[in-house]
Amino acid sequence: MATRLNAICLFVILIITSCNNNTNKKSMAHNTIYQYSTINALMNGYYYMGVSVADMPEHGNFGLGTFEHLDGEMIVLDGNIYKAKSDGTVETIDRNDTSPYVNLVHFKTDKEFELGSIGSFKQLEAALDSLITDKNIAHAIKVRANFSYILVRSVPAQEEPYPPLTNIIPKDEYCNPEEKQKEQKGTLVGFYLPSYFSELNKTGYHFHFISDDLKVAGHVYDCAFAKASVEAGLYRNINIQLPHDDIFPTYNLLINHADLDTIERKAE
Ligand SMILES: [Zn+2]
Repeated sequence: MATRLNAICLFVILIITSCNNNTNKKSMAHNTIYQYSTINALMNGYYYMGVSVADMPEHGNFGLGTFEHLDGEMIVLDGNIYKAKSDGTVETIDRNDTSPYVNLVHFKTDKEFELGSIGSFKQLEAALDSLITDKNIAHAIKVRANFSYILVRSVPAQEEPYPPLTNIIPKDEYCNPEEKQKEQKGTLVGFYLPSYFSELNKTGYHFHFISDDLKVAGHVYDCAFAKASVEAGLYRNINIQLPHDDIFPTYNLLINHADLDTIERKAE
């Protein structure tokens, strides 16, 4: 009888442990920023085949990145994966593509804010800075607005040997044309990352945009709106997957950080 009782107890404990493991795994996944490769590698021209788009949903339903050969800006929103191409068109991506650089989370809303009138990306950064109090924690940020102005950029596919990003992104080319810079209802999809990420990722704020009609998308240089709703999720785990090829282990990962600022921001 004692043996049978022991067996039942063990069985119950195993079930509880297994439930806890599943809960822990789920909670871990939902509190983790997944990153493939590093911003320094991307800056220096690492645009090779990377993580499969088909594998991305397990890492998150919200994020940004690029595609193999640097073929466009990636926006991941509500589990859909979009490609903003340098010719100004937007595609919904099927499962056959890959990404040499991506940041993903399972989006959660820990904080919600309303923003009033914002006239520039700098103003948006300042407004978010005043609202984000946990400056040492990574945030995923979703901004919904009827944008009165939105300036976005994309990037064209490259051929090997890949040039560094600074050789590809001049200030005016590959931006959305003037008629598409006005009146767009849509979403900024992005991140706030603390300065200790500096060799791995873009620190501070980094946003990509997609319009509700899926006609305008890209890396955000500038924006303006009368009001917006902001949702932010805080992430305390980081999962960085490095490329598993013969190139990455000896790739030059040194960059000039001023160059990164130059290509990520609008020309002053
Ligand atoms: Zn970007």
